[in-house]
Amino acid sequence: MKITIIAGARPNFIKIAPIIKAIEKKQNEESNVSYRLVHTGQHYDKNLSDTFFEELNIPKPNSNLEVKSGSQAEQTGAIMVAFEKELLQNPCDLVLVVGDVNSTMACAIVAKKQNIKVAHVEAGIRSGDMTMPEEINRIVTDSITDYFFTTSTSASENLLKYGVEATNIHFVGNVMIDTLYQNLNRIFEPLFWNEYQLKTGNYIILTLHRPSNVDEEQSLIQLLEGIDTMADGKKVIFPIHPRTKAILGETNLMLKNILFVEPQGYLNFMYLIKNSFAVITDSGGISEETTVMGIPCFTMRNNTERPETQTIGTNTLVGTSIENLEKLFADFIKNGKRKAGIPELWDGKASERIIDILLQK
Ligand code: UDP
Repeated sequence: MKITIIAGARPNFIKIAPIIKAIEKKQNEESNVSYRLVHTGQHYDKNLSDTFFEELNIPKPNSNLEVKSGSQAEQTGAIMVAFEKELLQNPCDLVLVVGDVNSTMACAIVAKKQNIKVAHVEAGIRSGDMTMPEEINRIVTDSITDYFFTTSTSASENLLKYGVEATNIHFVGNVMIDTLYQNLNRIFEPLFWNEYQLKTGNYIILTLHRPSNVDEEQSLIQLLEGIDTMADGKKVIFPIHPRTKAILGETNLMLKNILFVEPQGYLNFMYLIKNSFAVITDSGGISEETTVMGIPCFTMRNNTERPETQTIGTNTLVGTSIENLEKLFADFIKNGKRKAGIPELWDGKASERIIDILLQK
């Protein structure tokens, strides 16, 4: 079986790493499986792309479509045009897409129109929020996927509700957590650890990049000022996403506790999360990682497509207002960590399950 694997953005790189390892393991066992890795070039900054390939030992892509940034339509269109040519020149039996970025949807459409089977890893998750570009990518991708690999039973149930045949839905666990388990003994402190006098439990991690939090400069500033005051002497390490950085531009903020740092590589970032007091974020992936590491996570969104991080894990859904965050954070300081568990099958073996299932097709 010839599989073309698509990756375009930071969270994709983290998800494909263990899938490639699982394929290579099968190749060593002399299974008839090969892969071609296509990087669409959606994320191209060194610290959002190359660093992840190096740290996670992901092989150099066979092809880089180099689409770079653009509006939603420009980027999606550019990926489709470039991937159509790539796929015609390099036919395969299956295109495997992960997550919910524009590359996921664009490449699924192109593959399907060439009558090539599509596998979607992280299928079926839904926020119900159609203002999120990712939700549209999820719905479109799942409407043409052949093999659905899910991270939770609720994702599988969503797919059943949409009319997907049960035999095509495979609840396998979470590839992002495979990567976490494969690298936990390699994580290390960033260079600024001593300079900023960081110690286990004496700082908060903050990440913000979703349009609902960062696109309006004044509300972003208000949010940052509110978090800075709320931190009450605890340092807040803020690896700033290029999108958020572009919006803040040269704005001079008078912040006492928030320290801006570059987006972190995976190994430094996991070290920072694992040793933090708490995390404030609008990321979906981070709410999964904090769940597994037992770190309290406050999600600055009105909804989540990963409900198990709330019901089983450490995630608290805050909404986007600073007042709610202050209230929920104060409750946490008063009551301490709540008891949390790890969702079913988030055991580091999802990628192997996926490849085993695909090889039976
Ligand atoms: N991440 C990282 N360095 C950072 C911020 C995030 O390695 O400075 C990792 C994070 O741990 C998670 C992934 O990038 O594994 C999530 O990316 P992002 O928040 O961009 O995407 P989302 O999860 O919201 O789709």
